[in-house]
Amino acid sequence: AVNRMPLIAGNWKMNLDHLQTVAFIQKLHWSLRDGGHTEGTVDVAVFPPFTDLRTAQTLIDADKIPFALGGQDLSAHDSGAYTGEVSGAFLAKLDCRYVIIGHSERRQYHSETDEVVGSKVQAALRHGLVPVICVGETAEDLEEFGASAVPVSQLNVALESVPADAEIVVAYEPVWAIGSGQAATPDQAQDVCAKLREVVAAKLGADAAARTRILYGGSVKAANIASFMREPDVDGALVGGASLVVDEFSSIIRYQK
Ligand code: PEP
Repeated sequence: AVNRMPLIAGNWKMNLDHLQTVAFIQKLHWSLRDGGHTEGTVDVAVFPPFTDLRTAQTLIDADKIPFALGGQDLSAHDSGAYTGEVSGAFLAKLDCRYVIIGHSERRQYHSETDEVVGSKVQAALRHGLVPVICVGETAEDLEEFGASAVPVSQLNVALESVPADAEIVVAYEPVWAIGSGQAATPDQAQDVCAKLREVVAAKLGADAAARTRILYGGSVKAANIASFMREPDVDGALVGGASLVVDEFSSIIRYQK
């Protein structure tokens, strides 16, 4: 995490309606304040369901809450006859800064291929959004190819045609660690994150590799976040389950204390 601003990102998946989102954001903000959190030491981003974004934006804006917003997915298209899809233009209009792309649940349940992920990365960049590109191996991949081969190849495809000066975030999320309670070890995370940084260097150049934040995700909680953050190539975390519990997520954000 040398010279890179840490990023703690909460992926709420299909949880919290817009009223629950308002209550959650307020409680998280108070919990951080009461816990002595120093603003500006860590970037915090939350990824609510699409239907919550407008309310979350209004609250964050009115109360000057220092959380960035992001979508959990976006369409590869900008507008038109794509029933049910949400365009990057709409996310940008709601002040979203980030968008998660290629989460393993999208790859698994919505058959998103590496090529689809690549076209969504292009869509995000067209609309000034920072793509949070998720890569990671399944338990079967791990057995067959080891930890890094699949995420490295996924990232290679996702970064095709990405300009060297684009801001991107990469999230290494071993599928076997997501929601399983069985996180990777900090060593394992460091090893793959370092290889992913080499991919960024090869595709986008050394400056981009030095600047790009690479997150670890998979059963991150308050008890293990600091051990990941000590690793030089882990610049933050993408948090699922633990981002839905105010005190737990607040402790994760305050990992430096
Ligand atoms: C995720 O789905 O991005 C994730 C990391 O989930 P969890 O923290 O629940 O393992």
